[in-house]
Amino acid sequence: MILYYPCKPLGVNQPFGINPQTYARFGINGHNGIDFFAPDGTGVFATHEGTVVQVGVDEYEGHGVVVEGVDEIGKYKTIYWHMKENEIAVKVGDKLSVGDFIGKADNTGFSTGSHLHFGLKRTDDNGDTLNNDNGFLGAIDPMPYFTGQFACDDKLGKLLALIKSIALQLLGILKGKQ
Ligand SMILES: [Zn+2]
Repeated sequence: MILYYPCKPLGVNQPFGINPQTYARFGINGHNGIDFFAPDGTGVFATHEGTVVQVGVDEYEGHGVVVEGVDEIGKYKTIYWHMKENEIAVKVGDKLSVGDFIGKADNTGFSTGSHLHFGLKRTDDNGDTLNNDNGFLGAIDPMPYFTGQFACDDKLGKLLALIKSIALQLLGILKGKQ
């Protein structure tokens, strides 16, 4: 598995596994993802090739997206939380390439400031989380899988993101005229 950083510039507000006292109330041993530095409106981009399997809203997660990928070991899913309402650019079933625009960072759900919560879980062939009893609801530390490159620097991804954003804007203008 190879992951590209979801937003730029790189900053980590909260790494994986820390602050057990904060997360005890959720029944986990600590933070079960990485909180990336992402001021309000920061673009969030696909960290790997995959398929969107979930787009939704939750009291804790806020507006979130889940993308399923496959590598030499099996399936995995990446999780993007606290995103901006009405700015999510993907829907369930969309096939994503590295660098595809997913949406924008915000502060929705259980969150005290704009950032991107990024999670990683191994799944079985049906997409169900493996090792759900690992103390982090199956989440593992994504950090070792990042290559050091940014998803938004992927040239094709960047171009597609631009086209997609223009298309969405045009759609918005057309909708407004109806
Ligand atoms: Zn988090």
